[in-house]
Amino acid sequence: MKRHSSELKLLAPMALIVIVAVCALVGSLWVWAEQADSMSRTREERLVRLGLNQMADDHSMLMTPITIWDKAVESTAVKYDQDWVKGNIGEYFQNFVNFEANMLLDGNGNIVFAYKDGKTVDPALFADLKRQSQSLVNDLRDRQNALRATGQFYSAATNHEGRLIAVDGKIYIVGASMLLSDKKNSPLSAYKPYVAIGTHRLSGDELIALSQRYMVSNITLLKPGQTRADGSASVAFRDEATGKVAAELTWMPDTPGHTLFIRTLGPVLMISLGLGLIAIVLLHQSQRAAQGLIASEAKAKHMALHDSLTGLPNRTLFADRLNQATERLKRHGGQVAVMCIGLDRFKDVNDTLGHMAGDELIRHNAAKIAAMIRSSDTLARLGGDEFVIIQTDTDGSSAGSLAKRILEGLTGTVNLDSGQVFSSCSIGVTILHDGDIDPAEALRQADLALYRAKDMGRGQYAFFEIEMDATIKLRKTLETGLREAVHNGDIDVVYQPQVDHYGVIVGVEALCRWTHPSRGPVSPAYFIPLAEECGLMQELGTLVMRRAMMDAHRWPGLKVAVNVSASQIRCAAFVSHMKEMLIETRTTASQIEIEITEGVLLNDDSTTQMILHDLRHMGFSIALDDFGTGYSSLGYLSRYPVDKIKIDRSFVSNLGVDPEAEAVIRAIVKLAKALNLNIVAEGVETRAQKNLLRQAGCNIIQGYLFSKPVAGTVIDTMWDNDRKLVPNEPDNDIYAKSAKVVKLSPRMP
Ligand code: C2E
Ligand code: CA
Ligand code: CA
Repeated sequence: MKRHSSELKLLAPMALIVIVAVCALVGSLWVWAEQADSMSRTREERLVRLGLNQMADDHSMLMTPITIWDKAVESTAVKYDQDWVKGNIGEYFQNFVNFEANMLLDGNGNIVFAYKDGKTVDPALFADLKRQSQSLVNDLRDRQNALRATGQFYSAATNHEGRLIAVDGKIYIVGASMLLSDKKNSPLSAYKPYVAIGTHRLSGDELIALSQRYMVSNITLLKPGQTRADGSASVAFRDEATGKVAAELTWMPDTPGHTLFIRTLGPVLMISLGLGLIAIVLLHQSQRAAQGLIASEAKAKHMALHDSLTGLPNRTLFADRLNQATERLKRHGGQVAVMCIGLDRFKDVNDTLGHMAGDELIRHNAAKIAAMIRSSDTLARLGGDEFVIIQTDTDGSSAGSLAKRILEGLTGTVNLDSGQVFSSCSIGVTILHDGDIDPAEALRQADLALYRAKDMGRGQYAFFEIEMDATIKLRKTLETGLREAVHNGDIDVVYQPQVDHYGVIVGVEALCRWTHPSRGPVSPAYFIPLAEECGLMQELGTLVMRRAMMDAHRWPGLKVAVNVSASQIRCAAFVSHMKEMLIETRTTASQIEIEITEGVLLNDDSTTQMILHDLRHMGFSIALDDFGTGYSSLGYLSRYPVDKIKIDRSFVSNLGVDPEAEAVIRAIVKLAKALNLNIVAEGVETRAQKNLLRQAGCNIIQGYLFSKPVAGTVIDTMWDNDRKLVPNEPDNDIYAKSAKVVKLSPRMP
């Protein structure tokens, strides 16, 4: 709509310019046509006038054979001869010069002879003609006198004068010639010469002939009182005395200008219109191009400041907005909350369903959060699964309730194109009370609070507190160290024997160990969840599995149990990866036992079931770790292909303390036997525990009583010593070297 009106704004003046230009062009053509027609009319009028004068000249010229000879003088000025005058001035002029009315003036200008239509008439009838031709006669005489004064002799060419005059609305050709001797220096020249005057009334035929000769359209004589047509050409004849128009010839002149105007008007209009249209189209296109440029510039600007996946402000724009918010804080006070939102186990979605699904989940959650904030707040995506909100005009409680709303809104099952996922998030909040805080520091605080929220078990929000700094810093240090260790393969694997009632080793459990370069050994109970969180678990798991498979070679017939986490199992390539490793290490699958926790089975989906069946089919055996701590559903045991259950250490350590522990163990053993499953108890530290377990029906045990987890080389020694171990109370453990392990809680360092 906006673009439409701006286009109209430009098109309207453009159209006006085109219209004005076309009008100006047509107007100019019209003026030019008028001028051309006027020139043509003037030329035609000049031609007709010239033609008429020529006619008059021709007529008067024909008088000279009669007027120039001695006889003419002798018959008039010397001795007036009536017969001669009648025969020549009368009849000859009428018959040969075509003058219907003639007269003769004596030396004084008096009419001495008048002749009309073959008869001598009363000279008084010619008074008007005489008056009208007075100037003609005067001109003739003046020229004659001038010639004589310069001593020249007149000739036929000089002794006549023709003219057109109008009398009573009619036009006449009037010719005049003096009657003179044909000899130079003749005595007859002493006489004052007579003047012969002849008239011929212009006929319609002559007008037609005139029209044809000069190629003008029909020349007509205007009737008295008639007005001539618009645009007509005319030759007017004025009364000598009064100066008024006495007669007028008229005709329609050629109009080459208008003819051309009419002929060219169409093409000119078409061409102008075409050019105008082309100009408008070009203008439109250039405007579109300009608009396109503006749009792409705006798009580039938008892209520079926004995240391409969600369209949300990016880190740059976020920093800018945070700056603005802290500036406002400085001036007006109040509180601003900065909230970091991280999606829980987002990496699992990426790893198991692919990046497209990850992107889809990000977009889905971005839209959800955006719908929950005020328009004055800013939601930005800083990358990966990390969102951040700047909430202005707030306080601790309203920031907390927003965080709660977001937690609730983002927790639940999400239907993605590639499948269903359970999504939740953790939120870290920091409240800014004054504008003196650096935006980067604000973001860091919110980020630390997010770490705390994740450590609290995810799906939670936490406010930043000053003391978080140290613990989170430590966690970050360990994260960096673990990443390096996993990449460099600086992870050790130790083995804890599983023995039978006689202390004979029947299997070992592989357990990984990591020693931080400066902080010393770190408990796997801490670094395994850390590896999960920072996406290192696949790599770390592969490392342990490969090492276990290789070491298993040295202990043929001994089961080597390897812990495999839920995220590893769910990775699409896990089964094929296991196959590759078997081939690579030349290990038989039957020697490896995969230890999974109930968490793996928790999703209860057919994919996990299929993977476990595949592994089983390949020859691996499967043990259910930490049995009894989770849901311990009988359903799992019957549905999933499990070979062994491991009674959790918590029950074992409560043996003899809590009577219920023994009952639980008895129930588990019964269940295992009913389902024909092997059973092992872990965390056995005392002989008493061992004996109670045996009474309950559990003969295979794992624990410090026989051995702490030890290096593979120690297992080699045990192997060489008939594989038989003797029970040790923890304080006289002969194999495990006491190692100082960094004390860290499972979640928080
Ligand atoms: P877990 O799978 O239940 O492993 C048994 C843990 O109990 C081991 O702790 C072991 O050292 C300890 N333990 C064994 N006997 C006794 C005992 O008599 N008394 C006491 N107090 N503890 C005993 P560790 O090695 O610290 O491992 C802790 C957990 O870390 C493991 O629990 C396991 O869940 C995980 N973990 C260790 N290595 C790996 C691994 O390679 N992959 C995976 N996914 N998880 C691992
Ligand atoms: Ca285990
Ligand atoms: Ca366990």
